[in-house]
Amino acid sequence: MKNVFILSGPAWVGKNTLWNLAKTECENIIEESISMTSRQIRPSELDGREYHFVSKEIFEEKIHGWAFLEYALVHTNYYGSPKSELVRITGKWKSPIYIIEPQGMIHLKPLLEDEWYKVVTIFLLPPSLDELKKRLKGRGTETEEQFQIRLATAITEFEQQDLYDMKLINDDIFEAKKQLLQILQNS
Ligand code: 5GP
Repeated sequence: MKNVFILSGPAWVGKNTLWNLAKTECENIIEESISMTSRQIRPSELDGREYHFVSKEIFEEKIHGWAFLEYALVHTNYYGSPKSELVRITGKWKSPIYIIEPQGMIHLKPLLEDEWYKVVTIFLLPPSLDELKKRLKGRGTETEEQFQIRLATAITEFEQQDLYDMKLINDDIFEAKKQLLQILQNS
């Protein structure tokens, strides 16, 4: 049976940092499903590496063409997991990992769980809600209104942690990496 991993957690808890650290030690067996998004590319990002970046119109065309296993609208931007990524990764006999928010997990888990796939869901937590607020504020790249929207979403996501099979706390990133690798390599 093949594993599928889903990693979620509130914005800025460090999901991508954690996966980037862990992946070098498991990329022979696990590969990230690269999502598609309609949000603006950030200066540090590369099209096809963090996401496949497309316009809102192209994204909506793809929704109508059933290109996604699941998709969600997050802060006015679309994010979706392309079916083609699952084919690409399982075609190499590897397990996919999806780094997506909880709405996506809720759709994807029942869709993929069958006699072929075992879906393991992992929620990454900040040490506390106060610490998360500090990290959110620390970015300083947002207006107060944007910060409040991000914070409300983060709190809603935080409240969904009990829907997950496993929880990890991102207090010490290297400890979190060790624990994530243990889950990924031993599930
Ligand atoms: P960001 O804009 O910060 O990269 O991502 C915003 C949120 O969208 C994050 O919680 C991220 O995990 C989530 N996300 C990224 N790709 C997908 C996807 O394909 N589907 C869903 N449902 N969420 C996604």
